[in-house]
Amino acid sequence: MNRLRIWVQALFFLMTNGYWNFPVSRTIYKGPLKVVCSPGLNCYSCPAATTYCLIGALQQLLGGIRMAIETGQFYIGLYVIGTMGVIGGFVGRMVCGWACPFGLFQELLYKIPTPKFGIWPVLRYVKYGLLVFMVILLPLFAVDSFGTGDPWFCKYVCPAGTLEAGLPLIMLQPALRANLGLLFSLKMVILIFFIVWAVMASRPFCRTACPLGAFYALFNRVKLVKLSLDLNRCNHCEACHGVCPMGVRFNESPDDRECISCLACRSECKQQAINIEIGGLTLGPPSRSKTRPTRA
Ligand code: SF4
Ligand code: SF4
Repeated sequence: MNRLRIWVQALFFLMTNGYWNFPVSRTIYKGPLKVVCSPGLNCYSCPAATTYCLIGALQQLLGGIRMAIETGQFYIGLYVIGTMGVIGGFVGRMVCGWACPFGLFQELLYKIPTPKFGIWPVLRYVKYGLLVFMVILLPLFAVDSFGTGDPWFCKYVCPAGTLEAGLPLIMLQPALRANLGLLFSLKMVILIFFIVWAVMASRPFCRTACPLGAFYALFNRVKLVKLSLDLNRCNHCEACHGVCPMGVRFNESPDDRECISCLACRSECKQQAINIEIGGLTLGPPSRSKTRPTRA
């Protein structure tokens, strides 16, 4: 299953970053595909990106609302919000495990052989704060004299943006280097911090700071595709604990919002106690009795 997942992750990486003419054009792709969203975190300004980023688009949408109201051109960004809701409702954080280029990047870093550490569970709540304050409230209310808000998360935090867009663009366009200032240095510190952390701990950005993961996590209890635990098969051997890249103890918390449906625990479970449910239909061995559905 892990091999299949790597192939799917690679496929999504290539589909969302399919513009390989950028070393010649030295700029970002602006063709017709750029109206399609990337389900995972993938910077719009990455020179290879053929899609746009939902978190970036949401901030642009919210940052423009005040000016739109003042100029009488009020709109509701159904496309952005609707896309996020539909993806969340179908698969939730499965996107993080199967379709996010920055998640794949962290998984590859974690394969570097070094001492490994856990992540303090309470840090998982930081990403909800970033979603509320930097993605929603600040773009909406901290507006300039024209009534326009900044994309605060993209501008001041996002390490995926620095890796995929900032660094490649200053290599492709030397003129940009003259304008690099304190902000770029700050973003480099954040990127290096998460790279080093991802070598030593599993998926630290996903677990502590990703606002897109936080948004999808809100749907984990109602999404269509989810995992469930067969309480009558589980013998609480805890074999599923050690393999989870998100620090979930599946048999204790089958509805955990951190679960990215990577299925590592399902492969590890000798009791076949972990099932996949799609719209209420269970895929897996016949249950010995009543199956407890997950909410994650
Ligand atoms: S590995 Fe399977 S049997 Fe063991 S605790 Fe996890 S779900 Fe239960
Ligand atoms: S609980 Fe299982 S499916 Fe969910 S992230 Fe952990 S190992 Fe993957």
